Amino acid sequence: MLDFNRQPKFNEHFSQLIDQALQAQQRKETPRNYLGGSRLGVYCERALQFEYAGAPVDPGREFSGGLLRVFAVGHALEDLAVHWLRLAGLALHTRRQNGQQFGFSVAGGRLRGHVDGVITDAPAELGWTFPMLWECKTMNHRSWNDTVKRKLALAKPVYAAQVAIYQAYMSAEIPGIAENPALFTAINKDTQEIYAELVPFDAALAQRMSDRAAKVLAATAAGELLPRVTSDPAHHECRQCAWQDRCWAAQH
Ligand code: SF4
Repeated sequence: MLDFNRQPKFNEHFSQLIDQALQAQQRKETPRNYLGGSRLGVYCERALQFEYAGAPVDPGREFSGGLLRVFAVGHALEDLAVHWLRLAGLALHTRRQNGQQFGFSVAGGRLRGHVDGVITDAPAELGWTFPMLWECKTMNHRSWNDTVKRKLALAKPVYAAQVAIYQAYMSAEIPGIAENPALFTAINKDTQEIYAELVPFDAALAQRMSDRAAKVLAATAAGELLPRVTSDPAHHECRQCAWQDRCWAAQH
C-alpha cells in the first residue's frame, strides 16, 4: 500500500488543491458594484476608485488561496465573538427582524455598508447607553498588540473611519446610534485575547469620509482618475497596491 505521507511534496500538493478550489470559488463570486463604506478610509483615493470601478488587479495580484483562508478564519471567529458577547449578557442583534443584515445604502445604492451588529442592552455594571454599533475585527498578534497600545483611531484609521461613517449612516434607521459610543472589539487570532474599546462618534471624520465617497463617485462617473497619493512609485502603499502597474502606466 502506498504511503502518501512519504510522497515528496505531498503536503504542498494537497494545500494547492484546497487553495485552487478557494480561488475558483472566489472567481465565481459576483464582484461588488458599489463603494464599500468599510473601505472609505484607505490611504489612497485613486486605489479606492480602482476598487469601486472594478478595475482588474495587476497580474499576480489576485488574492492567494492562503489569504482567502485567512479571511475565512476571520469570518468564523467573528461569528464566535457574537456567541461570546451574547453569553456575557449583551443583547446583540446581527440581523433585522426580517432576517436581513443591518446596513445602509445611500447615493442611489452606490455607497453601502453592512454592520456587524447593534447592541440594545448589556449588564448594568457596564454603564452603557443604547443603541450602540458593534464592529468586530480579527488580527494577528503584532497588529492586535499595536491596536491595544495605540487605540483604534491611530492604529487602524481605516476601521475608525468605518465606525464613524456607519454610525452616521445608520442613524436614519436606528435613531441615537451616533449619540452613544460604538463598541469595537478585536480578537487576537494567535492567542484568542479580546480587545474592546468604546469609540465616541467622530462627526468630523464621518463628514470627511462622506465627502471622500462623493468625490470618488463623481470622478468615476465623469471618467476622471483621481490624483495619486504620492509621486513615488516605490512608496510602501504603492508596493502593496493591487493596481500599482495600472496606476503608474497612466500618464498622470
Ligand atoms: S499605486 Fe500608489 S498612487 Fe497608485 S493607486 Fe495604488 S496606492 Fe495609489
